[in-house]
Amino acid sequence: MFSFSGLSKLYQRSRLPFIYPLVLLGALLANPLALRALDWSTLFTAQDVRDHLSTDQGRADALDFCRKLGISKVYVEAFRDGYQPDEQTLKTARDFFRQAGLRVSGCVTTTGIGKTSSGWHVAVCYTNRKNQERLASIFRFAAGIFDEIMIDDFFFTDCECSECAAAKGSMRWPQYREKLMLEMARERVLGPAKQVNPNVKVILKYPQWYDNFQERGYIVDK
Ligand SMILES: [Zn+2]
Repeated sequence: MFSFSGLSKLYQRSRLPFIYPLVLLGALLANPLALRALDWSTLFTAQDVRDHLSTDQGRADALDFCRKLGISKVYVEAFRDGYQPDEQTLKTARDFFRQAGLRVSGCVTTTGIGKTSSGWHVAVCYTNRKNQERLASIFRFAAGIFDEIMIDDFFFTDCECSECAAAKGSMRWPQYREKLMLEMARERVLGPAKQVNPNVKVILKYPQWYDNFQERGYIVDK
């Protein structure tokens, strides 16, 4: 096993500029895992699945795109903006990429699942019971097809509607949203998904507005 600090010391001692890249190349060849340290992946949104992965030609073009860019993993999305692709199309796309040697995961974007947030309309109201039930059904659906599901950036809420206000009671908004989103994660995402597929793994992908996570129910350590 080669370490990068060890390589740097060797380079400093040798003072030969070509030694470092040569030794680095040797280290990579001696340790095939190091060659896989960086994986490129891409996401086919639910709408991409409908528009590009529902025909033989579309799937062949998508694979060609992945090969040209050195992509070794694809996320095939099962829900976004109120749209859920057909189950058979998702399974066919999953199997097609797997047979081509790529790793395949699912994805869910929790937008357009029903009543929207009273704040940022891209988010939804998670206090609303119908939304909660829809959320669970989306994850049951996705877990029936994929063993790994990524949740894209939008699993948060800033809703202050009358339902949310009543459920919040005397809590502060960030406190209520922490409680609400943890409950959603456990009871409406992980629970239903694991009921259908006990081996399923769920990845939470975060947006980039780090300083506001705690205001909108993204509780990273939980
Ligand atoms: Zn609400």
